[in-house]
Amino acid sequence: MRGTVLYGPRDVRFEEREIPKIIKPSDAIIRTSATCVCGSDLWPYRGINPIPQPTPMGHEYCGIVEEVGSAVRTVKPGQFVIGSFFASDNTCPNCQIGYQSSCRQRELVGTAQAPVLRVPLADGTLVATPDVPSDEMVPSLLSLSDVMGTGWFAADAANVNPGATVAVIGDGAVGLLGVLSAKQMGAKRIIAMSRHESRQRLAQEFGATDIVPERGEEGVARIQELTNGIGADSVLECVGTQESMTQAISSTRKGGYVSYVGVPHGVLLDGQELFFAHVHLHGGPAPVRRYLPKLIELVWNSKINPGKVFDLTLPLDQVAEGYRAMDERRAIKTLLYPKAA
Ligand SMILES: [Zn+2]
Repeated sequence: MRGTVLYGPRDVRFEEREIPKIIKPSDAIIRTSATCVCGSDLWPYRGINPIPQPTPMGHEYCGIVEEVGSAVRTVKPGQFVIGSFFASDNTCPNCQIGYQSSCRQRELVGTAQAPVLRVPLADGTLVATPDVPSDEMVPSLLSLSDVMGTGWFAADAANVNPGATVAVIGDGAVGLLGVLSAKQMGAKRIIAMSRHESRQRLAQEFGATDIVPERGEEGVARIQELTNGIGADSVLECVGTQESMTQAISSTRKGGYVSYVGVPHGVLLDGQELFFAHVHLHGGPAPVRRYLPKLIELVWNSKINPGKVFDLTLPLDQVAEGYRAMDERRAIKTLLYPKAA
């Protein structure tokens, strides 16, 4: 088979690789129905994270189970399944309290931009849909593997409650789905920070009530103005830079909540500022597995359509163009379909 490998900055190749096989009895092999490019894939793509050797890529996946190891009990060949970017046993103490992305046995699933994928800890990691879905539903189900689960965690970790005023920093796919999640959780006012017209439109479609194009101190001033100088109850930081984190903390009301789900790059917090900010902070790699059953139900019953964040669809063998389009911000998120074998 051919799969996606990153060789160096802006050097993505789709090349011959070995077909994954069962290695441990707890593994499953999946035929990928769809995969995609993540905003976090752009960090190594841009050379901001070093690439010491050619690295297979992709951590968002859904598809049909082809084969399971001898120890797998809950997942069966023929089922359509979704899993997180971190495989988890779903039984250890961290999993039991809902932090499967900190599972004591966690393993990164990192070769998903390929037609066939090995998923470790299949019983704990994979959740099957009630039936094989229609083609139209696949993009939304795929989004649950990371981007939608992360947007949901952003809203959950920021304690979004019915009637809340929410600000979302970052208009990438995660930020946009943070807006959708806040809406589902009953937020009354959702302020989306975005300066790109197509992203502003999608944010509004997902439930944003206000759009703020300003950033940094000006962005903070606008949020303070919109909230009568109080700040937002819940602020979702979906970028991972110093500017966005500072902006998030400064936009939150006293006693309010900041979540942070953008992988931090060079973010440093000042103890004194944090002390006097009087906010709750909660973030990290989203425990996507915790939310899968609920989010599958919402998609399955057409309550949400998070697949709308995919605004570019390509055959998997054009994956390099998918990265380029996101890098150049021509696309919010690229959906990739392997060719039928
Ligand atoms: Zn665990």
